[in-house]
Amino acid sequence: MKVHEYQAKELFARYGIPVPPGTVVATAAEAEAAAARVGKPVVVKAQVLVGGRGKAGGVKIAKTPAEAREKAAAILGMDIKGETVKKVLVTEAVDIAREIYVAVVMDRRAQKPLVMASAEGGVEIEVTAKENPSAIQRVWIDPLYGMHPFQSRQLATALAGDAELAKPMADIIQKLYRLYDEVDASLAEINPLVVTPDRRVLALDAKLNFDDNALERHPDFETLRDLDAEDPGEVRARAEGLSFVRLSGNVGCVVNGAGLAMATMDLVKFYGGQPANFLDIGGSSRPEKVIAALSIILQDTSVKSILFNIFGGITRCDDVARGLVTAFDQMNLKLPVVVRLTGTNEDEAREILRAVPAIHPAETMDEAVKKAIALAA
Ligand code: GDP
Ligand code: MN
Repeated sequence: MKVHEYQAKELFARYGIPVPPGTVVATAAEAEAAAARVGKPVVVKAQVLVGGRGKAGGVKIAKTPAEAREKAAAILGMDIKGETVKKVLVTEAVDIAREIYVAVVMDRRAQKPLVMASAEGGVEIEVTAKENPSAIQRVWIDPLYGMHPFQSRQLATALAGDAELAKPMADIIQKLYRLYDEVDASLAEINPLVVTPDRRVLALDAKLNFDDNALERHPDFETLRDLDAEDPGEVRARAEGLSFVRLSGNVGCVVNGAGLAMATMDLVKFYGGQPANFLDIGGSSRPEKVIAALSIILQDTSVKSILFNIFGGITRCDDVARGLVTAFDQMNLKLPVVVRLTGTNEDEAREILRAVPAIHPAETMDEAVKKAIALAA
């Protein structure tokens, strides 16, 4: 789960990472009032969950409250990489002497958190990684011990260039790691971490992604979720207890079990098709779940055929079949549906499905996948 910059900055502040004061607002008039309260030049910043807002015109400096109003009016409603700006952060503008990059990410290959830092902040880290990889420093952290003070000191010394600046920088890096660890983040990034001409060090931007698998340990974070910015299908699926991930293809897939879902995606790709989603209806197969799954998939207009691939272990194939029949009765489905059911009560299931001539039955996974791809073409 991603959160907005202003939310991440609130958490940063709670952990003692210095951030410029700011207010989040939803209208140009509120932006003007917020800028007036600051009483100094401000930066008006689009609050969207995608990166690269600066380049897209979503970050603008305003010298006066009237200018803040103008800039906010221009940014609110703007489309940034498919996301509409609904809120802006009005924050005190800071003079910048240097921009630094610092992030903590999970390095899956090393099975450890990785702290990355570069004295060349401000630009996207992917660009630095490509054009000047030696400018990025990497320090791996043993999650059992946490970040040792010498590790943050070493990084900070290399970044700061002088001992006096290294101290507050090491402190910020240490706090960023503690935050990453305690909130179960998958990414905690400051870009840029700036040094001001009067040698203060503060976080001008904040990016925080939570590990979805750890969210149950942080029920209070649920209030940080921005449903507007999330995929409506994914929101609906979460409410129905289904796991759903939207992909870019045209074969809608309904599967039970994550392993079977992965195998199904692989096979669709193998036969030259493109899955439109990953949808796991899980162990139970109540008709309501099948209906919910279908209606989530049907929201995506790029879907041209639907593939049901069900293995009946605990799930009973006849239950799924009944769900499908009910769904067909209720939904006026126009898309071709290919069904491969195997396992517990599969014969009864086939019998039930014979009542729906619009369903294309398949005996094997290969056959089902090939049929679904052909029907989507
Ligand atoms: P991003 O483009 O989404 O990463 O948004 P950032 O918050 O990182 O802002 C983009 C760029 O705008 C930064 O790298 C800075 O160069 C600039 N910027 C942001 N805030 C300020 C500020 O307070 N003062 C100045 N001078 N520049 C700023
Ligand atoms: Mn940034």
